[in-house]
Amino acid sequence: MTFAATIITLYPEMFPGPLGVSLAGRAREEGAWSLETVQLRDFAADKHRTVDDTPAGGGAGMVLKVDVLGRAIDHALALHPDCPVLAMTPRGKPITQERIRELAGGPGVTILCGRFEGFDERIFEGRAVEQVSVGDIVLSGGEPAALMVLDACIRLLPGVMGATESGHEESFEEGLLEYPHYTRPVDWEGRTIPEVLRSGDHAKIAAWRKLRAEEDTRLRRPDLWERHRGARDRPASGARREK
Ligand code: SAH
Repeated sequence: MTFAATIITLYPEMFPGPLGVSLAGRAREEGAWSLETVQLRDFAADKHRTVDDTPAGGGAGMVLKVDVLGRAIDHALALHPDCPVLAMTPRGKPITQERIRELAGGPGVTILCGRFEGFDERIFEGRAVEQVSVGDIVLSGGEPAALMVLDACIRLLPGVMGATESGHEESFEEGLLEYPHYTRPVDWEGRTIPEVLRSGDHAKIAAWRKLRAEEDTRLRRPDLWERHRGARDRPASGARREK
């Protein structure tokens, strides 16, 4: 099955961009995913092909017009009625690996890229659109955010990562950061690879990796660590585990 990516944007030339090379590029050639861009400007109603207007209430910048957005979304929905529509916005819910995994398991995704000050808010009332943020940063447009979300989905599509086992023991998959990696040379400027990783003792190696994953998560990402501990201490039944 081909994962159908549809991007609504004022800059279709930004796609596939980095997703045209390496893993994602090859996967597209092999038909694991397809890409379609929809030019937002094609849905403007006037002869100047206007897509934005000044913000109600005043202030700097321009706002993407709701009628234009509505027509573009309806067009994309007609092409792929089963694909969820995601709008890229710093006001959205931060994307997670869990959501990426769900998306990658589905028929595809339609991504709406903002520009200027963003979208007329009424589009989120009038259409079933999921507002997604890629982090607490402000980009100049939704396109790099769309590329991020797509990249994360594509690498999970069946066959794309080939024989590697990556994708299982990775950061976030267990709610933890991944343990750190090392490779040859054994000695670099006097810094060596941890002894345990050279011991050949697989049980000891697994224990060391688990410990580092937990320690690093606790120190670097207290937010993830709290959630991980909460999930561990609260079994799905809701009953508290006996200590
Ligand atoms: N005025 C807006 C920012 C607009 S940035 C605000 O302060 O919330 C212009 C466009 O870039 C947005 O419409 C959105 O599509 C995209 N963008 C910027 N930061 C983003 C982020 N963290 N995640 C997803 N999209 C983002």
